[in-house]
Amino acid sequence: MRRFLASVLGALAMTTTVHAQEPAPEVAIVIHGGAGTILPEEMSPAREAGFREKLTEALRAGHARLEDGADALDAVVAAILILEDSPLFNAGKGAVFASDGANELDAAIMDGRSLSAGAVSGVRHVANPIELARLVMEHSPHVMLYGEGAEEFALSRGISLVPQSYFFTRHRWEELEKARDEELQQRKSTVPQSGTVGAVALDARGNLAAGTSTGGTTNKRLGRIGDSPIIGAGTYADNASCAVSGTGHGEYFIRSVVAHDIASLMRYQGLTVEEAAEKVVLEKLVERKGEGGVIALDADGNIAMPFNTPGMYRGYIDKAGQLAVKIYADE
Ligand code: ASP
Repeated sequence: MRRFLASVLGALAMTTTVHAQEPAPEVAIVIHGGAGTILPEEMSPAREAGFREKLTEALRAGHARLEDGADALDAVVAAILILEDSPLFNAGKGAVFASDGANELDAAIMDGRSLSAGAVSGVRHVANPIELARLVMEHSPHVMLYGEGAEEFALSRGISLVPQSYFFTRHRWEELEKARDEELQQRKSTVPQSGTVGAVALDARGNLAAGTSTGGTTNKRLGRIGDSPIIGAGTYADNASCAVSGTGHGEYFIRSVVAHDIASLMRYQGLTVEEAAEKVVLEKLVERKGEGGVIALDADGNIAMPFNTPGMYRGYIDKAGQLAVKIYADE
């Protein structure tokens, strides 16, 4: 018995030693669920709790993949799939309606190690556009596929299509009716639609990845493509600088090439990820009246989440394993 105990204790001691010698992998994940006019007085406690819960679930799903040794890309997809499947966010299930009452979705993903990228735009029958963007990156010679062609490609890769009714939510339909009313009265809303989702991750091998998925903007003209699926505008990743996913008024993000601009400020001017992201979002975009925000992560695990709107759904699990989920500007 004593010998048995001694060997058990010995084994335990060994395990402890092995663990002490092997530091936990330095991984990190940051997500957003859209920027916009998100105010505590306009949010019920139950709805706010729902957002915080989903963001936490998405962070944990992505982080678990990283801890298992998966690629940053896998973590980005795992986190975004959860947000796409939730009716709360303007991506996948909860996508906003375009002017004709249809849902047209955009998404992109980028691998910071190889600089390969995949994107889809204007898809109407794909429940999880981020998955399709990854297939475009890994199984086609192209970077972006649009509309029907993207959906044909989805079928050829074994993704089944869903009817448009899958994307119906009363909340988004009411938003469309309100936007149509405002348009009729020439009171065009200047505030971007919140709810686009994005994720950036750093894996144990030091690789970065970024992904973004959106339904675009409420009442958008048919065929309108925003910044999210445009590499360098709403989505970008390069191990040499950072991974970025944006959310906000897409037309402004496209013209300012937001995500790539942040990476370039780091690469060519030696700015930190916080300095670069803040310069673009809090100075350049503000001067140009572009509303929105970004999440950005560098290869050392430094995190930036600047936004120039009243709120941005956002959260991270950093290299130390600390989890944070935030909504309003003063958090
Ligand atoms: N950036 C997205 C777009 O313009 C919308 C958003 O992030 O709210 O399509």
